[in-house]
Amino acid sequence: MKPAPFAYRPATSLADAQRALAADADAKLSAGNQSLGPMLNLRLARPGALIDIAGLAELRAVTDSGGAVRIGAGFTHAEIEDGEAPDPTLGWLRAAAGAIAHRAVRNRGTLGGSLAHADPAADWVIVMAGLGANLVLAGTNGERVVPADAFVTGPFETVLRADEMIVAVEIAKPSPGARWGYWKYTRQVGEFAKASATVLDDPAAGRQRCALGALGGAPVVLADGAGLIEGRVDPDGAVRAALAGRVADPQLHVVALRRALAAAKQAEAAQ
Ligand SMILES: Cc1cc2nc3c(=O)[nH]c(=O)nc-3n(C[C@H](O)[C@H](O)[C@H](O)COP(=O)(O)OP(=O)(O)OC[C@H]3O[C@@H](n4cnc5c(N)ncnc54)[C@H](O)[C@@H]3O)c2cc1C
Repeated sequence: MKPAPFAYRPATSLADAQRALAADADAKLSAGNQSLGPMLNLRLARPGALIDIAGLAELRAVTDSGGAVRIGAGFTHAEIEDGEAPDPTLGWLRAAAGAIAHRAVRNRGTLGGSLAHADPAADWVIVMAGLGANLVLAGTNGERVVPADAFVTGPFETVLRADEMIVAVEIAKPSPGARWGYWKYTRQVGEFAKASATVLDDPAAGRQRCALGALGGAPVVLADGAGLIEGRVDPDGAVRAALAGRVADPQLHVVALRRALAAAKQAEAAQ
């Protein structure tokens, strides 16, 4: 199928994109168009206008505030994978980016587009929740900062208001010696995850987090991350309790968490 007709509106600046979005309730942003394009072609989305933000320099801004780095939402997965975008985590983002889809998709798909699309199985959704990152949203009333683990409200649903866009992601720099594990289960290379888990072990910063993704909705940050990381809490029981009534068979998520915990431990051994 071909898309229903729409007006094409390349944005000339962030302010221009925001004005256009606020002025037209029937308009949609287009970034890498890797998720929106198929939806247009299948006519699952029929916006009256597309505001193209792919070329906006402001969405590629980087700000280092000392303890954290703001990365523009317009960086592509491939740029993050290739180290052309900054990686305040010294490699964790690069590794996650390289495992998204296929290179052709990574060449165009963007950090902001992936988060805004909020596919429950998407990589950045769980990685940013697991890292405890913040999303910087901008709309007609100015900017607001939302924790990544509170951004997704359901499948393909977020807290984004109609006039808002994601302009950046803010990631805290890990302490020396901090460790990270990310594991996702896919049937084939390049597929969306069937189950995923992250582990951030940064006790010096008071951040020991374990999160689960690919749950059909928002990711889940487990209650006792420190207990899981330090071996005082059984991953099997913790996952089953957290997903009770939400996932029929949580076994894949149990395995995902165990492997993410093991990956973080291996990172410790490699240091
Ligand atoms: C074959 C295939 C396999 C894939 N596999 C994976 C995978 O394994 N893991 C994974 O994570 N992803 C996967 N994806 C999705 C891919 O990562 C997309 O790039 C991403 O989901 C959307 O990013 P985009 O920049 O293309 O956004 P677009 O498609 O342009 O936009 C998606 C949505 O976000 C909105 N939007 C875009 N930018 C912004 C912004 N800055 N602020 C607010 N709203 C915005 C748009 O209006 C639209 O609603 C796959 C895609 C394909 C086609």
